[in-house]
Amino acid sequence: MTESIQPYSDKSARLLSEIIEDVKGYLKYMKGLGFAGVALSENSLRTLDDRFKENMTETLDMIQNDLGNCHRCILHKGRNHIVFGAGNPRAKLVLVGEAPGYEEDIQGLPFVGQAGQLLTRILRAIGLTREDVYICNIIKCRPAGNRNPESDEIGACIPFLHRQLKAIKPKFICALGTFAAQTLLGTKTPISQLRGHFHTYEGIHLLPTYHPAFLLRNPSKKRDVWEDMQKLQEAYEKA
Ligand code: SF4
Repeated sequence: MTESIQPYSDKSARLLSEIIEDVKGYLKYMKGLGFAGVALSENSLRTLDDRFKENMTETLDMIQNDLGNCHRCILHKGRNHIVFGAGNPRAKLVLVGEAPGYEEDIQGLPFVGQAGQLLTRILRAIGLTREDVYICNIIKCRPAGNRNPESDEIGACIPFLHRQLKAIKPKFICALGTFAAQTLLGTKTPISQLRGHFHTYEGIHLLPTYHPAFLLRNPSKKRDVWEDMQKLQEAYEKA
């Protein structure tokens, strides 16, 4: 029986090409120094290996490919679209909400309903557009009736958000609402106490504020959000 040959995945092919380029660069450098050949010790091989691992940053496309037509939790059953995230893959600021709503599920894009329009206006007020930032959610499929996601659903989905944040490497995260703030910070502290201050997520400055959908129901909280956004704008412009 003939053994089947597995094609390289995009990720392996990219890594292999980076390794080849790195080795070529190293050999050229040694040639420039007058060396006719290179003897690599175990240690230098290990150093090269470490460097390759350091450079193994995933792209958002790789993460989305890996997510695929995800069936990792029960939420896949009721969804129309997975809402992966949208915006600038090199954004300095990532906004993280809770989960897609009705409009988001239909369009496959985050924050496109009424709350999304308010978010666009909030961003504009601090001199940013949606193209400047990256917008996503803790959970990528709409929970039926907009119920709160269950812990097993969060457990299945959150690794993809962690990988997205690692790939984008933003300087700031704005956590929109209780659920996003508490999940990213691993706390049960109420959003009313978390908001208004910078916290840290994996070395990234994280500012929690109220969710735009909450603001639509509680317009009196707009002043708090405006104060939070001014803090964010000041830090963002200095960074
Ligand atoms: S919510 Fe996340 S883990 Fe669950 S099916 Fe959707 S993409 Fe997969």
